[in-house]
Amino acid sequence: MREGVQAYRAEGDSVGFVPTMGALHGGHMSLVETALEENDRTAVSIYVNRVQFDSDQDAEVYPRSFEDDAGMLEDAGVDLLFHPNEEIMYPDGDATGVQVDLPLTRRFEGDIRPRFFDGVARVVSKLLHAVPANRVYFGEKDLQQLMMIRRMVTDLHFEQDVRTVPVARDEDGVAYSSRNRKFTGDDWETARGTYRVLANFRDEVGERTREDLEACRAELSEVGLEVQYLDVVDYTTFAPVEPDHDRAVLIVAGYAGDVRLKDHLVLHAKNLPALESKLSEDGEVLPDGG
Ligand code: AMP
Repeated sequence: MREGVQAYRAEGDSVGFVPTMGALHGGHMSLVETALEENDRTAVSIYVNRVQFDSDQDAEVYPRSFEDDAGMLEDAGVDLLFHPNEEIMYPDGDATGVQVDLPLTRRFEGDIRPRFFDGVARVVSKLLHAVPANRVYFGEKDLQQLMMIRRMVTDLHFEQDVRTVPVARDEDGVAYSSRNRKFTGDDWETARGTYRVLANFRDEVGERTREDLEACRAELSEVGLEVQYLDVVDYTTFAPVEPDHDRAVLIVAGYAGDVRLKDHLVLHAKNLPALESKLSEDGEVLPDGG
């Protein structure tokens, strides 16, 4: 993989890289399309990273569809596909960990899933060494993860520019996710209802305070979501803020049936371009109080 990318770059071609865990959907494909547009060559990786899951069992049941994925990527015009096995990614017991130690990584996803951020930091750093592209593409869908990765790339001097792609949603507002493949009919209703509840909160953000989160949580329960967290946070730190804060985003995670669902909406449309340009600049992600 590394030699392939280096050969393209030696010819003067720019290379974009999209890391994924496969079971590809419209969200992944919007990352791939952006990479294809912005670069001469595009590389994609598919690897289900065990160490970021809560248990081996969880990783085991994660959806996989390699043949279909490979076909979609070929049709889209992707140049390189990296599909490493465990021995390649974690040789010799793999003693080296990567930890991004910030308040950001201890909150919400970090609190609920203790292995998650360390596991992601570890695999993404390995992938960035294996794929020396000019640019690497991540979805705003996993906003907390994205903010961590930006910080890691800055701290460890990775050469790739981090590019951010907005959340891709279906016509009902449900964010594409590999886990949606496991939805039953009722779970789909819950997912659509969840989006409606979040969108209502956002549409009336001028009249909302943190106290309204309780009612919002009750509405989510009514549509069937078993809520793990619901909050309004500053997207750079994930510290709780009032909804009128400049960088406020409404974040939610929970279960629709047996399927975990995670989403967020930016609360101030005028700040959406700011969020995206902030993410596409080279600047640092500021920790608490920064
Ligand atoms: P995953 O395969 O779930 O690890 O996701 C791989 C990349 O695709 C990550 O950067 C995700 O943030 C991104 N992604 C997943 N779902 C979406 C979506 N609905 N819209 C935009 N990006 C997404």
